[in-house]
Amino acid sequence: PITPTEKIWMDGELVDWDDARIHVLTHSLHYGCGVFEGIRAYPTADGPAVFRLREHIQRLLRSARIFLMDVPFSEDELVTATKQTVAVNGLEQCYIRPLVYLGYGEMGLNPLPAPVQVSIAVWPWGTYLGDEGLTRGVRMKISSWQRHGPNAMPPAAKGTGMYINSSMAKVEALKAGYDEAILLSPQGYVSECTGENLFVVRRGRIITPPVSAGALEGITQDTVATLARDLGYEVVTDHILRSDLYVAEEAFLTGTAAEVVPIRSVDDRDLGDGRPGPITRRLQELYAQAVRGQLDQYKDWNEHVR
Ligand code: PMP
Repeated sequence: PITPTEKIWMDGELVDWDDARIHVLTHSLHYGCGVFEGIRAYPTADGPAVFRLREHIQRLLRSARIFLMDVPFSEDELVTATKQTVAVNGLEQCYIRPLVYLGYGEMGLNPLPAPVQVSIAVWPWGTYLGDEGLTRGVRMKISSWQRHGPNAMPPAAKGTGMYINSSMAKVEALKAGYDEAILLSPQGYVSECTGENLFVVRRGRIITPPVSAGALEGITQDTVATLARDLGYEVVTDHILRSDLYVAEEAFLTGTAAEVVPIRSVDDRDLGDGRPGPITRRLQELYAQAVRGQLDQYKDWNEHVR
């Protein structure tokens, strides 16, 4: 369960956690037309800092643009509001959930007349796939559910209703005894996980699927690709087949909530020797340091809240 914090930002005002309510005829609740972000703040030597905040807000606004949602706040206003919400709740580290949704006042499938509203909530949230997942790796199952094709739902957008696809894949994997699912695109390529991007290491090269395979443009994906390139690795965005996963030397997933998590097995095939590989562990370590402002080279990524 979520641990409540003090205040939630709603349409420009900080309201008490228990008062952050909406009407049951809120448009987005019925048709799933909303966009959101998942962001994290970490403790640094200079106080709490939101990791790559501006990039997350920019993606939020791109998602809104794709769905023709006219957000009544600017990028700068949303950056400031997010920092304010973290600061006012007095948290050293937290998960941050900005949401743009269509509010109360209109019904029917044309979303355009509905009012566009924005909220930002923060709460303490431990590692998404568990501490054991982080250290020992997670067991993955290829889902029988396909990632939606780009002409069914735009994978570049982080739209609320689109996550029914992820949720079904997640439940299927959990009920079958796995930790997480991998979805394939309608063309049969590896796309991503339910809330994380995916990387494989083959012959020393690090490969991650493109948006055209149904993957979100992940900010952690970009962070980890940057860290790996700076270490001298070749990182490419390219199509991956299901069998590439089975024979990978290493594989890992990346996401703001999950962070960098080793993949222990895919469809019961152990990767490498069944333990997190050296490249995965190195990138995990660097990521943990970068988000906490411990690497001078990447300090621009830490957006201090006060
Ligand atoms: N894919 C999906 C479907 C996601 O929900 C997320 C989480 N936002 C990611 C990938 C990873 O993106 P990021 O690293 O920006 O959190």
